[in-house]
Amino acid sequence: MSVISTKTTCPYCGVGCGVIASMHENGRVEVQGDPDHPANFGRLCSKGAALGETVHLGERLLYPEINGEQVSWEQAYSAVATKFSDVIKQHGPDAVAFYVSGQLLTEDYYVANKLMKGFIGSANIDTNSRLCMSSVVAAYKRALGEDVVPCNYDDLERAQLIVLAGTNTAWCHPVLYQRIAQSKETNPNVKIVCIDPRRTQTSDISDLHLSVRPGTDAILFNGLLVWLETAGELDQQFVNVSTEGVEQALESARQSSPDIHRVAQACGLSDEDVERFYRLFARTERVVTVFSQGVNQSSSGVDKINSIINCHLLTGRIGRKGMGPFSFTGQPNAMGGREVGGLANQLAAHMELDNEAHRDCVAEFWQTSTLATKAGLKAIDCFDEIEKKNIKAIWIMATNPVVSMPDADRVKAALEGCEFVVVSDCVRNTDTSRLADVCLPATTWGERDGTVTNSERRISRQRPFLTAPGLAKHDWQIITELAQKMGFKKAFPYRSTADIFDEFARLSGYKKDEQRQFDISGLADMTLHEYKEMQPIQWPVVNRHNQADASIMYGDGLFSTPDRRARFIAITPKPPAASVSEKFPFILNTGRVRDQWHTMTRTGMSPRLSTHRIEPFVEIHPDDAKRLNIVDGKLAQISSETDAEIFVRVRVTDRQQRGSLFVPMHWNLQFSGQARVSSLIKTVVDPISGQPEFKHAVANIKSCDARWYGFIISRKKPVLKYSRYWARSRGKGFWRYEIAGKESPEDWAVHARTLLNVEAGEEWAEFYDKADGHYRAARFIDGHLDSVIFIDSSILLPPRDWLISLFQKDSVSASERASLLQGLPPAEVEDVGKIICACFNVGDKTICKAITEQGASNVAAVGELCQAGTNCGSCRPEIKELISECVVSS
Ligand code: SF4
Repeated sequence: MSVISTKTTCPYCGVGCGVIASMHENGRVEVQGDPDHPANFGRLCSKGAALGETVHLGERLLYPEINGEQVSWEQAYSAVATKFSDVIKQHGPDAVAFYVSGQLLTEDYYVANKLMKGFIGSANIDTNSRLCMSSVVAAYKRALGEDVVPCNYDDLERAQLIVLAGTNTAWCHPVLYQRIAQSKETNPNVKIVCIDPRRTQTSDISDLHLSVRPGTDAILFNGLLVWLETAGELDQQFVNVSTEGVEQALESARQSSPDIHRVAQACGLSDEDVERFYRLFARTERVVTVFSQGVNQSSSGVDKINSIINCHLLTGRIGRKGMGPFSFTGQPNAMGGREVGGLANQLAAHMELDNEAHRDCVAEFWQTSTLATKAGLKAIDCFDEIEKKNIKAIWIMATNPVVSMPDADRVKAALEGCEFVVVSDCVRNTDTSRLADVCLPATTWGERDGTVTNSERRISRQRPFLTAPGLAKHDWQIITELAQKMGFKKAFPYRSTADIFDEFARLSGYKKDEQRQFDISGLADMTLHEYKEMQPIQWPVVNRHNQADASIMYGDGLFSTPDRRARFIAITPKPPAASVSEKFPFILNTGRVRDQWHTMTRTGMSPRLSTHRIEPFVEIHPDDAKRLNIVDGKLAQISSETDAEIFVRVRVTDRQQRGSLFVPMHWNLQFSGQARVSSLIKTVVDPISGQPEFKHAVANIKSCDARWYGFIISRKKPVLKYSRYWARSRGKGFWRYEIAGKESPEDWAVHARTLLNVEAGEEWAEFYDKADGHYRAARFIDGHLDSVIFIDSSILLPPRDWLISLFQKDSVSASERASLLQGLPPAEVEDVGKIICACFNVGDKTICKAITEQGASNVAAVGELCQAGTNCGSCRPEIKELISECVVSS
């Protein structure tokens, strides 16, 4: 059987792993890590490894639609171009907006930005990257003069100390976590300090976990700045020659963080731990400080990041190998978006809208007289203006703001009230596309062709190996054709992404001033073949035929500011915007889980990824749970200042600080009844970057007293009624629902048949104990199991894994049928427990058995006995955790 292999890039996180996709004759897609890609050297995490499961067409948007009716591209273009042109004519260019995404490829991003800023004449284009890294952009710009990540992934292997601030790297950037963990294993002298209120899988490998009081990061780093200076642990030469503003920064830092004791008190830490961190930082030359959403998503995120950069400037630990302040980017092409000016306040190629010379340069290059002259609306402001009806038409590309934006119910209402909503996406039913007037089918990973930039400034190709299905088109193609329809044919002549990339590369070098580092002009004038074959390369690229080492930026001590000196920024730490109160006594934190990506529109398609966390949940400390009579495994209702409420499963864990809750960000209305955590996040933004504070809402939690609990496993989706709570996940050939409710049907025996649409004559077996509230039923079609429903008055329902295994069988034996309604697997069948290793479907019970009965004392030994952790490695931190737990309890 012939197999065609294509080298491409993973479409999920900002690590930007190289992937080899192998297409088999029967259409099966197999995915492996690319051993030659410098981001991952062959590694992949669970999400990357499961990419092959997400390329099927089941959920795809395949045809343009107007008001839910399939139309031709001509009709769709005509509707969008006419409406946008009419609104612009009547209300001006600022009455329209684009809301785009870090999922777009650089070429898509570039043309969207060019159309809005260059030819519509408004800067009302912003991106969902505003929600995850706009504070980083602002902080790097303030300190370094430009949005330049000065580090490289191999700095993680060269560093002797890695400080991980506000990042659960093990789950959010798993391949970089693996590189860090490997480095520590190879060299035990490498130290890791983790700064995070939660005890996470990342903090488990740290030598020192600083479980700071939420929101106190800047106090901690200001304290470090003061301590370094007082102890004489600074690089005076570097400070004198290459920086400005140290005195002001120290002065502010002394105010907030005069000594270790006061820092420790403010941060909720012990004096000893703070001192240990400060000494480690001071005495270690090669220090990398990694930061991510835990720092960025804050109402003072820019300041927090600058407080980190200040410490690297004071010690001169920037611009050299194995050191520097390193932002890990969330999305696959958030960096590419930053490069093409995808944020409302930027121009392309790291030029600025508020800089007249830059505006002239871009206008001249694009040959336009209508270039926007002022910054546009940032994401939050944009949806506010939609709500006020000042924005009358919006085009949302490859993102799902009804799930991801703060105060998500308000965003939903704003879009419902908007005159004209266009959504281009690869998925047909998202919470946002349901509100669209026009839906435009876009290609997705495996079909798209272009480039992305990862967190270390490395540009990689995404290459197609599948043909576009239905009438789907590439985003750049849709934007280009729409621009042509709107009358901008000459400026949008592109026939391929190679054309666009070439133009962008040329712009990056056009009349470039000396200090601007972003430059890929060396990649201009490539032949189509060269573009197609382009190997991963880090910018700047001035001469591709003689590429200089671009791994480290600012090695010459000359920064991107006009005087070429970096800036210390004086930081006065600010508390988070919301304070707990009697009504809302908990701090609500949000974030990712290991095996889901964003709003689940793609990872939710993968049965393998759906086994790790099957439901939305809240984590709460045991003491809080006990006090509030909240029980592990039952349900909780969480409310907040937004007046929204969600229902989620309870996980009681001492990984959570007392007084804090954690809820994952992923669940949407397609996968759960009411669990969009963003609906609970009151809109508060960093005043400089406009990035929302997702890590510090205030909330209340109470037990949700369901009168019954249950689950359904069915090949067809059931029609739910009476379920106050539901969450669904995808299995191989079936859907799994966890359900619960307060209201009960009069008779489960009648209701279950309606719910599963059981027809007369179908084989239907059931058991009903009405008095105790136990109901179980199963439908068999042609000998195989088609659906089961289990209802109980308590959460003590049978394990699902054995039942799920019956769905894989062609026929179910008599003994299995008998066991089925008892809810117990036959004696010879092992209950594997909760799935930990998604690659090999290994559960916690199997792993614990390997530890306690077979003597596995480390992750490798567990892997040898039961395969867990031997493929992508994403579950290794959890296996480690199980080893500690099992050893303690045995
Ligand atoms: Fe994809 Fe995982 Fe690599 Fe991120 S770490 S790019 S999700 S394989």
